Amino acid sequence: MKKLISLVMVVALMLISVAVCAETVIGVTISKYEDTFLTEMRNAMYAKAEELGVKLDVTDAKADQTTQNNNIDLFLTKGYPSLAVNMQDRSAAQIVIDKAMKDNTPVVFFNREPFAEVMSMWDKVYYVGAKAEDSGTMQGVAMAQYWDATPAADKNGDGVIQYVMLTGEPGHQDAELRTEYSIKYLTDNGYKVEKLAQDTAMWDRVKGQDKMATILSAHGDTIEAVFANNDDMALGAIEALKAQGYFTGDKYVPVFGVDATEVGKDAIIEGTMLATSLNDAKNQAYATIELAALLAKGEEPTAENFEYEITDGNYIWIPYFSVDATNVDQF
Ligand code: BGC
Ligand code: CA
Repeated sequence: MKKLISLVMVVALMLISVAVCAETVIGVTISKYEDTFLTEMRNAMYAKAEELGVKLDVTDAKADQTTQNNNIDLFLTKGYPSLAVNMQDRSAAQIVIDKAMKDNTPVVFFNREPFAEVMSMWDKVYYVGAKAEDSGTMQGVAMAQYWDATPAADKNGDGVIQYVMLTGEPGHQDAELRTEYSIKYLTDNGYKVEKLAQDTAMWDRVKGQDKMATILSAHGDTIEAVFANNDDMALGAIEALKAQGYFTGDKYVPVFGVDATEVGKDAIIEGTMLATSLNDAKNQAYATIELAALLAKGEEPTAENFEYEITDGNYIWIPYFSVDATNVDQF
């Protein structure tokens, strides 16, 4: 009996060690854990990895590029077969590609897009993201609809939209393009606009609240629209507006976000955020992990083994969708 038990244990241990050796681990580095959207992505990544039977080693770069480079060095030393990278500073992607190429380890970048010339340096480099222009345009469309339907929206009756812009991290493609395209839609379609204030709140809710409070003390009730590059900053702005009596009685200003995070959707339902767009964290995460898992096995993604479309050789674009009170329940 004793012999049998020890034999069973030996066999069990052997099986476990085989399983451990065969386990695929993908190295994932996130620019900052303390980010609502990236947290939703991270959770979806774990779910996808579990479904695919791969392991993730996820690290927080804590908004520091040096920390992130060290994370990547460690992943490569550990011999992980592929990496998924959310650059802290997207202009530093070349360093990452150089390291990965030397090690022949494929890289899937996501959410923070490396420059095109860097992306084309190696064919085992991919990018998963969303076209930021579209989310900007969607804010412009939502504002135009509100303006056309609401005569009182033009508070001073001058025919011009007096607006405030809260921007994300400087240099982030989503911050730059959303800022540009929200207003571009309006001006391209004959709306007159006047920028009262623009400031960066670094994608952050608390900073959004602080910046909006400062802007409100300078411009008060002359503000006719608030555009925020993401939901978190929109939510911060809403807090500052609430503190000044907005969203009670008929004191109102339309606030626009991007992401449709869980908290963002709550604000749409509550009636404080007028519109946002779905920045599809789930599908971006799924595409990133599916692709990284294929590359880890040394496979090329094709229409047969990969469910997302790859354009221009190495880009996977996940579409945005407009979200407001009329359709929020579908998201
Ligand atoms: C999201 C932001 C987020 C940022 C992080 C953007 O696409 O809209 O909410 O903070 O990515 O890189
Ligand atoms: Ca006006």
